[in-house]
Amino acid sequence: MMAAVLALAAALPLAQLPPGKTFMVLQPHHDDHTTDYGMGGLIAKLTEAGWQGWYVRSSNDEKDGSSGYPHNDMINLRESEAATAVLGIKGVYSLGWRNDYMDAAPLEELRAQLILLIRKHKPDLVLGHDPWAHYDRNPDHRKVARASAEAVWMAGLENVHPEHFAVGLKPHRVSYMFLKARVDYGRGHHANCAVELSESQVQKKEKAYSTHRNVYAHPGMARSVRAQLEKQGLTIPELDGKTDQEAAVIIEEWYMNWISRKRGTENGVKYAEVYWFWNEFDHVPGLKGYLEANVVKK
Ligand SMILES: [Zn+2]
Repeated sequence: MMAAVLALAAALPLAQLPPGKTFMVLQPHHDDHTTDYGMGGLIAKLTEAGWQGWYVRSSNDEKDGSSGYPHNDMINLRESEAATAVLGIKGVYSLGWRNDYMDAAPLEELRAQLILLIRKHKPDLVLGHDPWAHYDRNPDHRKVARASAEAVWMAGLENVHPEHFAVGLKPHRVSYMFLKARVDYGRGHHANCAVELSESQVQKKEKAYSTHRNVYAHPGMARSVRAQLEKQGLTIPELDGKTDQEAAVIIEEWYMNWISRKRGTENGVKYAEVYWFWNEFDHVPGLKGYLEANVVKK
């Protein structure tokens, strides 16, 4: 009973999609659109609701995979394009900064690129890593999270990168952000909302994740799982007769389904992802309260 009460108390409010029609996902890596800590389901939910979205992969992902630096870059870009297409994303930008060496990249350069892309696509909503999360050991995650949070605000200022205006761009203010963070090490992440997902959104998330064969649904993963089980005289009947590639896809899709169900159960629905949702008026609570109390439709 006490456990049930505690579980209920921990449930987060369910977030509604904010008003808008365009979003951008600003990330360091090819695969950050769909992970155990979020995004794929929310991206599918947005595109199913008619939003248009673009994905930014800031690094070249040269170290992710076993094919050598240049090949990893190309394979991971192709897989990123295929995986984000499953989620309904319109296109992928690849900025090519060196994977895991982004600390050395000038923050202002990266931020300028993100400001340029924000001014080009004019997103109402940005998705990305939470720069205020406790700790993420991945240097690219920290770097791009910080650059994104700065770009979201500075893209709206007319004195920032005025050279962009010479090609017809204008300042653009982003109104909303959904931020995620790793929960598998450090002190985890404090989310302020849950996003409910449908069956079809979870299926797209499973497919997007398993499309990354170079790093996730790789035959070698299933081969090593099977070898471990074999040593202990165990087997998984569902995988009998399946190739290592097929088995790897089944395992990875199960994983995305499991984490979506787990977040759903924690928050009183079947499937969910959790986020820190940010509204442009959050830092001025007096003004936000005034608007909430007084604004009406014309
Ligand atoms: Zn990443």
